[in-house]
Amino acid sequence: MIVVMKPGASPAEVDHMVERVESLGLKAHVLRGVERTVIAAIGAERVGLKESLESGAGVAEVMPILAPYKIASREVKSEPTVIEAGSLKVGGGRIGVIAGPCSVENEPQILACAEAVKAAGATALRGGAFKPRTSPYSFQGLKEGGLKLLAAARDATGLAVVTEVLATEDVELVARYADVLQIGARNMQNYRLLEAVGKIQQPVLLKRGPSATMEELLLAAEYILDAGNPNVMLCERGIRTFESHTRFTLPLASVPYLHAKTHLPVVVDPSHGTGHTYLVPQMAAASVAAGADGLILEVHPDPENALSDGYQSLNFEQFGQTMQLCRKVAEALGKQM
Ligand code: PEP
Ligand code: MN
Repeated sequence: MIVVMKPGASPAEVDHMVERVESLGLKAHVLRGVERTVIAAIGAERVGLKESLESGAGVAEVMPILAPYKIASREVKSEPTVIEAGSLKVGGGRIGVIAGPCSVENEPQILACAEAVKAAGATALRGGAFKPRTSPYSFQGLKEGGLKLLAAARDATGLAVVTEVLATEDVELVARYADVLQIGARNMQNYRLLEAVGKIQQPVLLKRGPSATMEELLLAAEYILDAGNPNVMLCERGIRTFESHTRFTLPLASVPYLHAKTHLPVVVDPSHGTGHTYLVPQMAAASVAAGADGLILEVHPDPENALSDGYQSLNFEQFGQTMQLCRKVAEALGKQM
């Protein structure tokens, strides 16, 4: 149920309704909007619940939440959620650009990347320290050593750090270094991991599983929100189809679709979404045109010799050109980038 409070409802009235909701055995999530406060009452619905809540002081109306995801739904919160983590701002007319290598490889590589992407206008640095690789024989990342290098790059440039956490037992370690924790596509339905990142302070970038539906993505986000972390960014990174001209198929209709269904910001990853460097600039611009609130792009000083995903990484010059192209689209839409 959604308990919509009257525009002038007092904090005491809101607190009272939270207690009422909890005393009925439901979980209360308070969403404070500019105009009014809404309380999402989550739990089994039963006869008489709506009437019982409607009688509360300061309550405007009580409605069922129709979507299977509750806290993530636009029904509960109509205003878009804006996420801030240090230098990174995503949503609210500001396009966040998260750029950097697929994997952190060594200090000169990550420092050069951080400086170059910052100079071209990126607002956060990406880089994997824990890498989910298809083969156990591929480079698995520098682990804590990689996290330390990311922190050094943040110190040098001021860029917020976005990095993946692969396992529940690593959440505390990664959260000590990262400004945003990334849940990779392969882990989108790792529900214990989603609950674990729901209990930390930092925002989460949740990537769509390559074979997950939009509803499954939104329900995965719901796990994080329900565990108590309201700062979730969704990421379209391409899905598996019969098509083989690209590594994955990047369905950009997900961007306006998600905007219609959820208040959470949407980031697009044209690097994994295409798997080919030459396709990335135009698909990044197309993502902005589709309404993306952010981009995540793989950038490497020497893509040919990258330890992972070099074939889809932009070099510094290509990243600069991609930024220029995307900025023109952003300006046409009245957005800042
Ligand atoms: C990545 O961002 O480097 C990555 C592994 O992405 P995905 O989880 O989308 O495959
Ligand atoms: Mn990668």
